[in-house]
Amino acid sequence: MKELLERIQTEGVVIGDSILKVDSFLNHQIEPSFILKIGREIADRFSGERITKVLTIEASGIAVAMAVGLALGVKVVFAKKGHASTQTGDIYTAPVYSFTRQEEVNIFVSSKFLTPHDAVLIVDDFLAHGQALKALVDIVRQAGSVLVGAGIVIEKQFQGGRESLQESRIRIESLATIKSMREGKIEFA
Ligand code: 5GP
Repeated sequence: MKELLERIQTEGVVIGDSILKVDSFLNHQIEPSFILKIGREIADRFSGERITKVLTIEASGIAVAMAVGLALGVKVVFAKKGHASTQTGDIYTAPVYSFTRQEEVNIFVSSKFLTPHDAVLIVDDFLAHGQALKALVDIVRQAGSVLVGAGIVIEKQFQGGRESLQESRIRIESLATIKSMREGKIEFA
């Protein structure tokens, strides 16, 4: 997606050699018209597939997931982080280690919202080490839903998330794939 690559180059801020901030349109300020285009593009990559739900993780996945859900005409479920004390009934849960925050959190989804009748497309803003995606795949499996694939806005290839998910045989579509970010220079694959 050419426009996305251009905006990452012009607006992205590299922290160290591994963190990319795209706060101007995705992670802090949200630009609805652009996020809708991103959502449409992810939906198009999976055209022809039966998809009944989009699944993401709070908070920064929600805007993109909503755009994908809108394009597909399906509901969006977001996994919540932290304690499930406010949740009543059965839940699916999985741990996620965050390299950016250096902490482990549990995410959970109510069993009301994902069932064996669902065919699920996972959506997230970034794929880095693959921890968040792995946990979401785990939740889809717990629910007994069909896993259609994952649509990612920005994949940081050098952090190995895709390889770490090889065993789950998940189809991953990324709109922008970054090969390296050494010395603040963003190089696309
Ligand atoms: P992973 O679990 O694949 O290591 O990391 C993916 C999650 O961490 C995403 O949900 C995303 O919110 C966050 N993340 C990972 N790398 C970055 C980054 O470079 N920039 C931002 N803004 N978020 C990131």
